[in-house]
Amino acid sequence: GDQAAHGHEQDSGDVFLGQDQPHSARMYDYYLGGKTNYSVDREAAQAVIRLFPAIETVARVNRAYMHRAARYLAQRCGMRQFIDVGTGIPTAPNLHEVVQGVAPESRVMYIDNDPIVLVYADELLAGTPEGRTGYVQADATDPDAVLAAVKAEGVVDLGKPVVLSLHALLHFIPDDRDPYRIVRRFMDHLAPGSYLSLTHCTGDFAPDTWAAVIDTYVQRGTPAQVRSRDEVERFFAGLELVDPGVVLAHQWHPEVGSGPGVLSDRLVSLYAGVGRKR
Ligand code: SAH
Repeated sequence: GDQAAHGHEQDSGDVFLGQDQPHSARMYDYYLGGKTNYSVDREAAQAVIRLFPAIETVARVNRAYMHRAARYLAQRCGMRQFIDVGTGIPTAPNLHEVVQGVAPESRVMYIDNDPIVLVYADELLAGTPEGRTGYVQADATDPDAVLAAVKAEGVVDLGKPVVLSLHALLHFIPDDRDPYRIVRRFMDHLAPGSYLSLTHCTGDFAPDTWAAVIDTYVQRGTPAQVRSRDEVERFFAGLELVDPGVVLAHQWHPEVGSGPGVLSDRLVSLYAGVGRKR
């Protein structure tokens, strides 16, 4: 389909890509077994893995949730427009591949603030001929700027319902950045019938371990914060929670025979939920 990329016009020097310090997108890529990471990222990721080896499970459970939630929203809720903020480095299948697999005309707008994601954005833009995809680099902490950029791309029609996905994003927005205001602002701008889907790491089942994991991120320059189940549920204030509400990600509409098998709450340490704007 139409491609709304701005990709590849920047050079890719060290400073531009921030190879001087680890980045969350590239650490996450490492947890998933990807190749788009630098030694500084691998060192930081390995420090986290030493503290909490299950972080690789968390990443996979998160990805599997995204696939199920996207399919659910496309198939069961008829959603055809998606805005994915904090997209990450492309990892197949990406969101547009999942939803265009259900409905080829689906439109997906991707946003991340990490320049490395822009470098690989082509993989996010190769959608169906019937659908459309786009990518813009923007910061989630400025919802007005994100939505203005989305509007300018013209991939999704903000006058109609959209799915806003914030998967594994909000734990990188500590309370001092006012994440609840950010989410409310996004949802205020979206049409009635829109949905919010999110995942969020939690320290509820291993508080000391997660305090150390968060410390590893913060010490290396990435602000982060885990939240309790109640704190995660508060992101859905004013929205109608879709059953079963905010639950551990592997428990959200599990598909028989597709899961990673039996997982403890501690190993998952990731909440997920979907809410609908009336
Ligand atoms: N959503 C993907 C990737 C999660 S990793 C998934 O669930 O599989 C978290 C992503 O959020 C990274 O790509 C990181 O660059 C991005 N991110 C972190 N803070 C951000 C911000 N303030 N604005 C936009 N993106 C952000």
